[in-house]
Amino acid sequence: MHTHLHAAFLALCLPVLAFGWGQPHLAITRAALETLPEWQKTLLGNELQALGDRHCMIPDNVYSDRENARYAAMESRPGEAYLQVLHLPTLQPDCLEVMTHFMNQAVTALREKRLGDAVRFMGTLCHQIEDYGSPSHTVPGDNMFTLLQQFLPPTDVMKDRLMHGPIENGGFTVSIPGYRPQLLGTTVDEAAWRLMHRVHEGILNARSTTIPIIQALYADDAAAVTKHQLRAAVVDAQIVADAMHTILCLGTQKLDAGAVKTLQQAAIDAFLPLEAEKLYYPQTQFFSSPHWGHPRIGVILAEGSRAMPLKLRLDEGSREFSRGISAGMGKPLTFILPGGVFSRFTVIAGLHPELGARGRVEFAILGDDKPLVSATLNGTDPARRLECRLEGVTRLQLSLSSRGLDSKSNYAIWAEPMLIKP
Ligand SMILES: [Zn+2]
Repeated sequence: MHTHLHAAFLALCLPVLAFGWGQPHLAITRAALETLPEWQKTLLGNELQALGDRHCMIPDNVYSDRENARYAAMESRPGEAYLQVLHLPTLQPDCLEVMTHFMNQAVTALREKRLGDAVRFMGTLCHQIEDYGSPSHTVPGDNMFTLLQQFLPPTDVMKDRLMHGPIENGGFTVSIPGYRPQLLGTTVDEAAWRLMHRVHEGILNARSTTIPIIQALYADDAAAVTKHQLRAAVVDAQIVADAMHTILCLGTQKLDAGAVKTLQQAAIDAFLPLEAEKLYYPQTQFFSSPHWGHPRIGVILAEGSRAMPLKLRLDEGSREFSRGISAGMGKPLTFILPGGVFSRFTVIAGLHPELGARGRVEFAILGDDKPLVSATLNGTDPARRLECRLEGVTRLQLSLSSRGLDSKSNYAIWAEPMLIKP
């Protein structure tokens, strides 16, 4: 009895607790579908409309629309009728598993000419992407903003209102004319992995909208609310467009040669490592050497305060790099890899020639905790190109350790860290 009541209570509450976007789901999905190439729209036929009108809501309607609930369920998670992971951002391994699953279901259904099944799985993925990028789903563990409202005390009018709905809901329409959807991978594993990283961009973008939206709500400025909501919705629509385009390409095995070529490698400095669990570096990830800080992308911080270009000494002289990561000692960076996609990793490792002249650092690359390649370099040594094979590696780790006396000079740089396909 107790369990039964508990289940009923959850059934009533969960969809409300994690409800995302509402009507804007439809607006975002429609805007995304509008950008698909003509051949993909033709292939979808009548289902194009249904995807934007209904299928993108399947994960919210699992209790009222039993017939379609199975398109938002996973066999590997029995008993979970309402999959919270489809609504609220989660950790990378979890997110990747779920995105891979639903993308695979959609692609398989397309290949087997089961269009009706394919579009429903596609709708579930639309919903997940949109919810993750909703301004209401941006603060980890604070879906109703009770914590955030301690930082931003509400006005008297807003004092007793639940903030989730007002932050994300509105009657706006979304449009991204001229957007060209991107192919995210040549296999489902690659596409889901790149999609997850695209979704991270959407989440970070959405985070930048939440506080302006709350301030606009407090000021009763409806136009400003919509303006900032649209900033989130437009990016969501672009990511949904990429995902839908990619599924249709993979499902029909029609891959544009030019797009495939751009996927030949991936620069991992564009991605957040697993240590940035909720897409920011927690306090436990701060390093104390060469300064008190956390990894930087594309720059190095002199004394922890002055951003300078990444620079390395090469045999032919010093050179600046636009791509790369600077980081401190003892805090590894771990990147999740898609299965069977990349065969090699290459990076140029070294110390900044001026800032790090007196440092000495061991650069180690590991795969699933096993050492793959390493080099110990002095600040006066030329940078070294490190390369390793990636067969079977699911987690790539970059690790830095002080190997000298002057740890304050350990200005270490991983330049041009690239995953490369066979
Ligand atoms: Zn939702």
